[in-house]
Amino acid sequence: MPVEIPFVRAPDFPPGEAREVSPLIRRIVAPNPSAFTFHGTGTYIVGRGTVAVIDPGPMIESHLQAIVDALAGETVSHIVVTHTHIDHSPLARPLQRATGAPVWGCGPHGSGKHEPGEKVEEGGDMEFAPDRQLQHGEAVEGAGWTLEAVHTPGHTSNHLCFALSEEKALFTGDHVMGWSTSVISPPDGDMGAYMKSLELLLEREDEVYWPTHGKPVRETKPFVRAFIAHRREREAAILACLGDGIGLIREMVPRIYGNTIPSLLYPAAACSVFAHIIDLAERGAVAAEGAIGIEAQYRLAR
Ligand SMILES: [Zn+2]
Repeated sequence: MPVEIPFVRAPDFPPGEAREVSPLIRRIVAPNPSAFTFHGTGTYIVGRGTVAVIDPGPMIESHLQAIVDALAGETVSHIVVTHTHIDHSPLARPLQRATGAPVWGCGPHGSGKHEPGEKVEEGGDMEFAPDRQLQHGEAVEGAGWTLEAVHTPGHTSNHLCFALSEEKALFTGDHVMGWSTSVISPPDGDMGAYMKSLELLLEREDEVYWPTHGKPVRETKPFVRAFIAHRREREAAILACLGDGIGLIREMVPRIYGNTIPSLLYPAAACSVFAHIIDLAERGAVAAEGAIGIEAQYRLAR
């Protein structure tokens, strides 16, 4: 039986309106819906009076204006960024110019190199540089709220989640989303790191996840366990292909995915299979004929 992930796919709020979603949290959705962003980027405002803004979002003037309008009469003390994809971080500097607040959070985009191949997710924001880089366990705080950085590499190497202990809540960025699995696209995406970062969430006692895209996840641990099981199932399918002598990723993809996804998405699926194979090779289970690459021939390692 394939693993069933209990996705949450309810419609999001209309773009541009700040909605209170908990006593300490407001959410404004940017007008950038796509296959990668679902209904759009959800920017979070934490606190009242003196607030933090998490993931200002893509470079869209109307979204900047919506954030500024929502915060009329309040002070932004921190602009906080989970990771450097162009649907999350680029508006940090314009928001800083509008508010004077420093930019905190993840470091610069990890791979620092051109990522070749098919476009399977929102691209990297190579311009991003925080004023203050937060390490795992470091926190920023304001009146009545604390945001503690939880380093969760995998989707990107610099990805941070942020724990709001006052509400036992975790802002999960793109690490755990309610509507979809995360894209793990090498070279910056790293499946081995991602799996460890999922395990890390199981050690925590967060009662709700607020992802950037889509609605909150309230059954936190069962949801994460389903994600882990789904990836292990995918890994087993790859190993089964290799056991049957299918060593090329482009030949594995139709067999593993069949008609569960449109063939249009096969290149994205190939990236995901490649991410698994890199992880399996690092663990000594799989070997490449020659250099590791998306076009390489693979076999089970003896
Ligand atoms: Zn992302």
